[in-house]
Amino acid sequence: MANIDTLSARQIASAVASGELSALEVAQAALDAVEAREGEVQAFLQVTPELALAAADRVDAARAAGEALPPLAGVPVAVKDNMNLVGTRTTCASRMLESYESPYTATCVQRMLDAGCVPVGKTNMDEFAFGSSTDTSAFHPTNNPWNTSCVPGGSSGGSAAAVAAGEVPLALGSDTGGSIRQPAALCGVVGMKPTYGAVSRYGVVAFGSSLDQVGPFGRTVEDVALAMDALVTGGHDRCDSTSQEVAPVFAQHLDASIEGRRVGIIPSFMEAEGLSPEVRSAVESAAKALEAAGAELVEVDLPHLDAAIAAYYVIGPAEAFSNLARFDGVRYGYQEPNCRNLADQSSLSRAHGFGAEAKRRQMLGAYLLSSGIYDKYYYAAQKARTLITADYAAAYEKVDVIIMPASPQVAFEHGAISDPTQMYLSDMYTISINIAGNGGMTVPVGLGTDSGMPVAAQLVAPAFKDERLITFGAALERAFASDGAPIMGVAPAFSGKGGELA
Ligand code: GLN
Repeated sequence: MANIDTLSARQIASAVASGELSALEVAQAALDAVEAREGEVQAFLQVTPELALAAADRVDAARAAGEALPPLAGVPVAVKDNMNLVGTRTTCASRMLESYESPYTATCVQRMLDAGCVPVGKTNMDEFAFGSSTDTSAFHPTNNPWNTSCVPGGSSGGSAAAVAAGEVPLALGSDTGGSIRQPAALCGVVGMKPTYGAVSRYGVVAFGSSLDQVGPFGRTVEDVALAMDALVTGGHDRCDSTSQEVAPVFAQHLDASIEGRRVGIIPSFMEAEGLSPEVRSAVESAAKALEAAGAELVEVDLPHLDAAIAAYYVIGPAEAFSNLARFDGVRYGYQEPNCRNLADQSSLSRAHGFGAEAKRRQMLGAYLLSSGIYDKYYYAAQKARTLITADYAAAYEKVDVIIMPASPQVAFEHGAISDPTQMYLSDMYTISINIAGNGGMTVPVGLGTDSGMPVAAQLVAPAFKDERLITFGAALERAFASDGAPIMGVAPAFSGKGGELA
């Protein structure tokens, strides 16, 4: 019969609700798919069969008792390993937290569970979410399902790869500067970073507190909309003061018309150095597809975007330095044995617990916040942030959404980028959105003409207008795929491997 990887989250939930499939057989098929595919993908740091089977059992028992099922009942989900989930370790792919047991469950994860999702495991990532390749994980790299010698992107590379390999239909990621949208682009899946504050970060290990946001990955825009509805159901979380009340009506915007609506294009972004011709032509064809569906293309100019990467690599490390100070081998994290004194214990625990990129970010942050330096860089970066945010606000006076690349390049080979500043440019198109706090979504549009690897476009909308991402994303999907089908689907080398539904 069907393989689990041919079904969307929506299809699984409706088959479970109607009794066509039991949650238990879905969970078993997902675990089988993981078992059969993980050797080559390595998307997970921990697989959780007990949690999955117990959650599936609860769904089946509720159905048997005649209870109304929640909207995503029985849908397997993978969770990035910087999110707490009771019964799992939350390692952030770091030696520092290798044995850290989640003391409670993050609100975002709990909301997926409340919606009936079945947790299959915790996914690999760049250490503490610093990176764009997932290669900085302290444990192992993750492979891109479209070509396993390539990276899946990062930092939420495990979540993107698990969805692209058909191991799960849905996964959660976090995005501080592009960590959902860039790996989604490299793996050919849909990935959404909602507006800052739309989803609670309580229980998610903090990186840059003024930038971090949680969001979903799926193979269809509809699945991402349903996951967003689950994430915001319950409203404001009093455990995260930045969380806002957002109505769970994303799925209602899937079919809205884009007739006469305006889509912005930033000419300097399309001409930027470093943008590969195949990605550029993919974004142009996405823009044309929206135009063919009735939208109007409008050029917009955001004069301060040039400063975004520099501002991010000041604000991000400064906040990371402050957030990661707690991992000192006393209260949290790896503790160096046999130290002579407290100072040694803290510095040796940090020296041996953190990998190179995590150290680089923290040293940079410490320097940037030091007296005399602070004014010059941190203060300047905050001014740039204000100007960039104002640029976006001015652009949205003229357009409903903006379309741009998500990643300048398709997936690159493991180890191909060794210079950290080169790696930082992977996020040249995503970073300014976190700086401004807006929402953005990656929509895959096919395979690149040169590389044969996934290429994608990014849609960006004003703050708390994230439903527009769903509307325009669905319009792209209608243009590039037939009726409700995913644009890309599961990477061919993995589809059908394990995961048969009886
Ligand atoms: N790649 C960016 C960085 O390394 C973004 C990471 C993220 O969004 N977590 O900072």
